[in-house]
Amino acid sequence: MYAFEYQRAGSVAEAASLLAKNPEAKLLAGGQTFIPTLKARLAQPSHVVDIGRLKELAGIEVKGNVVSIGAMTRHAEVAASADVKKAIPALADLAIEIGDQQVRNRGTLGGSVANNDPAADYPSAVLALGATIVTNQREIASGDFFQGMFSTALQDGEIIVRIVFPMPKRAAYSKFHHPASGYAMAGVFVADTANGVRVAVTGAGSSGVFLWKAAEAALTKTFAAASLDGIAVDEGECIADLHAGADYRAHLVGVMAKRAIKKITG
Ligand SMILES: Cc1cc2nc3c(=O)[nH]c(=O)nc-3n(C[C@H](O)[C@H](O)[C@H](O)COP(=O)(O)OP(=O)(O)OC[C@H]3O[C@@H](n4cnc5c(N)ncnc54)[C@H](O)[C@@H]3O)c2cc1C
Repeated sequence: MYAFEYQRAGSVAEAASLLAKNPEAKLLAGGQTFIPTLKARLAQPSHVVDIGRLKELAGIEVKGNVVSIGAMTRHAEVAASADVKKAIPALADLAIEIGDQQVRNRGTLGGSVANNDPAADYPSAVLALGATIVTNQREIASGDFFQGMFSTALQDGEIIVRIVFPMPKRAAYSKFHHPASGYAMAGVFVADTANGVRVAVTGAGSSGVFLWKAAEAALTKTFAAASLDGIAVDEGECIADLHAGADYRAHLVGVMAKRAIKKITG
């Protein structure tokens, strides 16, 4: 780890000001991605700004037909939340599938979405549900937020404050875990929303999370697993690495999508 100055922010405004003053500063949330990155000397921030204790970033609130979740909300809190289980059970189901108990106790919604790892789980829910990412500067629609592997619409110094999820009519997530890391080899979030059926895929796409349009069209006609027979994601756009080839991942996406649909239809 390279040396850096540690600063604990007392408010979002203070965190933003620290980032503005120090262009090489980085935010620390749950540290589940950032600390290993520092330990491996893959990042050399001048300052580390800890937002872990900010009450402004905490909490889960259900109002009308939306669920608003603070950026610092830990995966374990989402998984255990009675409000989330009632409003969007698929989101709680997704959170319980992240990593292991230690990771879920520390890792946060905001950190996961800001990091936009191509195998992370939350981006699929954010995209499928058409959530809004609320930062200290603006509101960003999920469709504009994810911009490729580890890349998002966040500007330097911009802080995710909360994410607002519209409640779907019905939704489910299905994931094939990497046996060692727990990350998604392929994860599919299927949501029947007020704006139509949406199918978001994580873990498989070489450009990160994406909407599987052909599946959405097929499910719009008939919402049943069999509607995906004969449809496949383009393996040319899937990740190929030492864990699995692109053809295997493309196949997994279809299997996970059908499992998610069957969770909904029974
Ligand atoms: C062993 C292991 C297994 C894991 N398995 C999974 C898995 O199965 N599925 C999965 O999805 N994830 C998995 N993760 C990742 C985990 O979910 C992390 O919590 C997540 O990637 C980052 O969240 P964090 O709160 O730890 O953020 P940090 O590591 O603190 O930060 C990550 C990045 O986001 C930035 N950031 C953090 N918060 C904000 C914010 N509010 N606004 C703007 N930028 C911000 C930081 O500056 C940093 O660049 C795993 C991690 C580990 C170590």
